[in-house]
Amino acid sequence: MKKRVGIPRALLYYKFEAMWKTFFEELGAEVIISPETTKTIKDLAVRYAPDEDCYSTKLYFGHAIYLKDKVDYFFIPRFGSDHEVNVGCPKFIGLAQVLDSLFPDFPEIIMPYYSQAKANHGKRRLLRIIFEIGFKFTYNPLKILKAGFRAFEAQRKYEEQLHISEQQLEKWINSQIFLNEKPNLEKRNKPLKLALVSHPYVLNDSLSNLDIRENLSQKGVDIITSQQMPRSTIEDQMEKLDFNMYFSYEREILGTIMYFLENNTIDGILQLAVFSCGPDSIVLELASRYSRRQPETPLLQLVIDELSSEVGFSTRIEAFIDMIDRRN
Ligand code: SF4
Repeated sequence: MKKRVGIPRALLYYKFEAMWKTFFEELGAEVIISPETTKTIKDLAVRYAPDEDCYSTKLYFGHAIYLKDKVDYFFIPRFGSDHEVNVGCPKFIGLAQVLDSLFPDFPEIIMPYYSQAKANHGKRRLLRIIFEIGFKFTYNPLKILKAGFRAFEAQRKYEEQLHISEQQLEKWINSQIFLNEKPNLEKRNKPLKLALVSHPYVLNDSLSNLDIRENLSQKGVDIITSQQMPRSTIEDQMEKLDFNMYFSYEREILGTIMYFLENNTIDGILQLAVFSCGPDSIVLELASRYSRRQPETPLLQLVIDELSSEVGFSTRIEAFIDMIDRRN
């Protein structure tokens, strides 16, 4: 019988999904990923996660608890960074150990530690991790090596598809292509263009983001997400700061906001921040300062948590869209 590896569909899953899934499947394991966040998962999160955690981390707890009796292993890497200076969130590093100590009935957690910025990890460390994990599933070193190679290849392809080029961005701005679901144009002839900016685990989890993508699409809004933005555009914007924004996700978020504020080529920017997220609170403040300096493109900032209601959220978005329509 295949060994079952559980991966909670939350946080870094939304960055490394392709790599992790391919790796374990190539090793011969059955990969079980929790479903998209449901009301049950959210209830588990609220019940069991520490109160002081951010909403996204709480949801991670819900996903892990949902999976715990369905798998033989959990895969929860302690990921610090894949850049020599910039880092992810410290929560990504501590989460596996917190879960391990709070829930002794959890199956074994595979929790490799990797951080290029803080621990100077590189290819040798990666190779060690690949073999350490691989030997839990097979004694064939070639199979392990092949699984590692295929996993990186899958990740490369996934990212190549996800991040658009500067030319595609230009085409989207000029309404020559859609990058996401085609908006419903029953009530308007021309779609509004908005940038939807947040962490990938908010952008892609409809319960977490209160179904904002569908909501916008129904209102005739054509979106681009911060996750899709060309990497070169983000890095160009970061060069303009007089300090280094060293949280990697926040680079993506702030870079997208700065780009559209500066260029004034779309109708508005919608930023979703996570309640009690430290890095988000820095970016909220910075973005709002830049927006005051370049007010032509309106910016709406909304903070989400477990108490946010779809109705209240929808009303704010409607008011924002009405305001844009009146301006236009
Ligand atoms: S970056 Fe913010 S939202 Fe993401 S895990 Fe860290 S504190 Fe939570």
